[in-house]
Amino acid sequence: MSIQTVNPSTNNLVKSFEEMTIREVDAAISKSTYAFNDWKRTSYKQRADLLHKVAALMREKKTALAKLITLEMGKIISQAEGEIDLSADILDYYATNGAQFLADKILNPEYGEALVRYTPMGVLLGVEPWNFPFYQVARFVAPNIMVGNTILLKHASIVPQCAIAIEDLFKEANAPAGLYTNLLLSGKRASAIVSDVRIKGVSLTGSELAGASLASEAGKHLKKSVLELGGSDAFIILEDADIDKTVEWAVVGRINNNGQCCVASKRFIAVDAIADEFLRKFKEKLSNLKVGDPMDPATELGPLSSEEAILHLLDQLKRSVDAGAKVLLGGKRVNRPGAFMEPTIITGLNKNIPAYYEELFGPVASFYRVKDEQEAIELANDSAYGLGGSVFTQDIERGKRIADQIDTGMVYINHPTWTQADLPFGGSKGSGYGQELSEFGVDEFAIKKLIRVSGLNDPF
Ligand code: NAP
Repeated sequence: MSIQTVNPSTNNLVKSFEEMTIREVDAAISKSTYAFNDWKRTSYKQRADLLHKVAALMREKKTALAKLITLEMGKIISQAEGEIDLSADILDYYATNGAQFLADKILNPEYGEALVRYTPMGVLLGVEPWNFPFYQVARFVAPNIMVGNTILLKHASIVPQCAIAIEDLFKEANAPAGLYTNLLLSGKRASAIVSDVRIKGVSLTGSELAGASLASEAGKHLKKSVLELGGSDAFIILEDADIDKTVEWAVVGRINNNGQCCVASKRFIAVDAIADEFLRKFKEKLSNLKVGDPMDPATELGPLSSEEAILHLLDQLKRSVDAGAKVLLGGKRVNRPGAFMEPTIITGLNKNIPAYYEELFGPVASFYRVKDEQEAIELANDSAYGLGGSVFTQDIERGKRIADQIDTGMVYINHPTWTQADLPFGGSKGSGYGQELSEFGVDEFAIKKLIRVSGLNDPF
């Protein structure tokens, strides 16, 4: 059985779920199609009322929902509660602003009148990862429900209870049947349903492999796709940075979500003048982190999401050390049950070492020393990924100049890359395409229909 809750703090199986049969999936797509025929005619106010209701329920049940996140994927409990707040904020944000984002855009042609009207596409399939089980869903679902689309959601197989809880929130808010449907389905079956003619668009957040599989199916069947994939964000520290503050943010940037954010700071690139001081202080702070039970509010670093995840990370480390990388801190699993990884720093990296190009999904920081700003930019850009990145400097104009030269979808100055409802989120290169959140989030799965009024005597 592939759909299961396994507590990564103990590696004990908690609950197993039956996958949906082909017939059940077919019925779910039909129901979603049927729901679309009504939902597309609802007003923005009706859609906004529903999203506000789901957000209120989320906040009301915050403690229980946060515990579910921590149980299934190991996020520390305070961050799980923060995720519920952020998800509710996203629902409220689109409920409040959606109608304005989706209002007709009036054009000014030389003759006659013209406007662009946002029109929903239909049934959408979202495939989401386990690392933010509520937030990832919220940022895909909220704008699209405002647009008038209906949603089939295939969540990661290791967070089935979170997936079911989200569907239950919609039911409790009296969403029409079929508006939001959870598909209990394994990843290898997800791409196969893209060809179904009733599905009009697909969005995936996850690995490149899964993204390529889903998007190639979408391409084959001429359907719109959005991909939010992995990242290997650079965290550049310049000689004029406030080192103590920078070190604090470096620790947050690397270990937030137990090191498993797509936009985690993964490659720490320090210019020579401050490299020693940064590394000494960074190592000290990482080595003092309290590793333990993610349900305990005092814990600062919990387990990875699964045994499979830690084995993958340990394999990446081993291959990298075999190729010449040095372990400056940690490097092993913690000697206790569960998928716990020591906070780790590796150095001595070069292009021939796997960790130079691979995404490290866990509390493992890669450290690089460079001569100057130019070398830092070149190293930051030497990656197949293009998601986020950070520059730490007290000279904001210099930070902006550097941001211009980093080829990613997002660059944060004096902060790790992060997210909020009203800021766009998305990557370039191997990190995918398309954007979520902010006003841009309503654009991806809306048809921008031109309505043109001409005078009968206007020129051709
Ligand atoms: P994953 O294995 O790709 O899983 C993500 C989702 O894709 C899951 O629902 C999974 O289902 C499904 N899936 C797997 N194989 C598939 C296939 N062949 N066709 C269609 N769907 C498939 O990713 P992960 O390792 O769990 O998640 C971590 C990755 O996500 C990291 O690379 C991280 O950087 C990235 N991420 C990116 C963003 C962003 O916004 N850019 C945000 C968060 C995470 P199963 O669970 O059933 O296999």
